[in-house]
Amino acid sequence: MSVYRAEYIWIDGSKPTPKLRSKAKVVPIGEAPPVWGFDGSSTNQAPGANSDCVLNPVFVCPDPVRGGENKLVMTEVLLTDMTPHPTNTRAANAAMAKKYATDDTWFGIEQEYTFFDGSRPLGFPDNGFPPPQGGYYCGVGADEVFGRDVVEAHLDACIKAGLRIAGINGEVMPGQWEFQIGPIGAPAIGDQMWLARWLLYRVAEDFGVSATLYPKPVRGDWNGAGAHTNFSTKAMRSSYEACVAAAEALKPRHDLHIKNYGYAIEERLTGLHETASYKEYSYGVSNRGASVRIPWQVARDKKGYIEDRRPNANCDPYVVTRLIIETVCGAAEKRRPTLLKAKRPVKAKAKAKKSAA
Ligand code: ADP
Ligand code: MN
Ligand code: MN
Ligand code: MN
Repeated sequence: MSVYRAEYIWIDGSKPTPKLRSKAKVVPIGEAPPVWGFDGSSTNQAPGANSDCVLNPVFVCPDPVRGGENKLVMTEVLLTDMTPHPTNTRAANAAMAKKYATDDTWFGIEQEYTFFDGSRPLGFPDNGFPPPQGGYYCGVGADEVFGRDVVEAHLDACIKAGLRIAGINGEVMPGQWEFQIGPIGAPAIGDQMWLARWLLYRVAEDFGVSATLYPKPVRGDWNGAGAHTNFSTKAMRSSYEACVAAAEALKPRHDLHIKNYGYAIEERLTGLHETASYKEYSYGVSNRGASVRIPWQVARDKKGYIEDRRPNANCDPYVVTRLIIETVCGAAEKRRPTLLKAKRPVKAKAKAKKSAA
């Protein structure tokens, strides 16, 4: 019987930041990866006496690590009654995307991360610090670039897996890099981002290097790591007013978003190093010191997308994109012409009278 290997990937219950886990199942060729399970007592997802958790496949793609017929299987965790596990943030994301499906929200997330060699960022000397920031961002040369072979291998892997990877670049701090996924809808953006993160760790493993999403890996005058989340609704892709309205809608819900944008966000959003303070909300055209940036091309073309610069590198993209949809599409719904809205309450009233009578 010919078979393939399916690597099942899931998000665990680690706190404050969940971790990725994976294990392989041998599946007959021609069969889809089935629902599977794991021991939740080893992942902070269940007590020992009742430890079964369910792995439900949500996104399957070619496995660029093993190659051949092998597959990567992104899954969501369910309880044995097939309802979402408390650590499952995808289910609420999918429900929110469905509720506002007509808005057709797209996301492009810029995932920053830092390579570590033992306890120091890759490129940092054993003692002291490298020369200060300035030349590393998009740099070239052995004095500025650390880990490019890993980054190239990860980019290749993402392309081979068929992910919607948009690009890569070297970042401001040595050993720090970025890749972007998108633009795609939700929950696909979360599925692909988590899978791309897994590929990053897996590919780096073969180079003896580790990658971290910690938002402020080195204190002091060194940039943190974020996950800028670019997004657009159908309306924003054809109207500048809708882009500005989206930036405005985020303002009254700033604290809620900050609370859900990743552990230790206050370490990173200091107001320095191309960030705005987590304490207040701001937006502006071309402004990389604002919470939300309207790219200059968007201001020129009078349509497009905006960039939420607040999410941490260690954020959960299911949570971030669910909140953005809820906040931005919820506000747009409230603004819709009363003509459209008026019809329903009238009907509802008439019905209510009937049933009362
Ligand atoms: P930056 O200039 O902030 O470094 P990047 O080029 O790294 O920006 O990332 C921009 C991201 O925006 C890309 O992932 C891209 O896919 C995404 N993007 C572009 N257009 C849209 C759009 N209309 N809606 C949502 N995301 C978009
Ligand atoms: Mn970028
Ligand atoms: Mn960046
Ligand atoms: Mn950005």
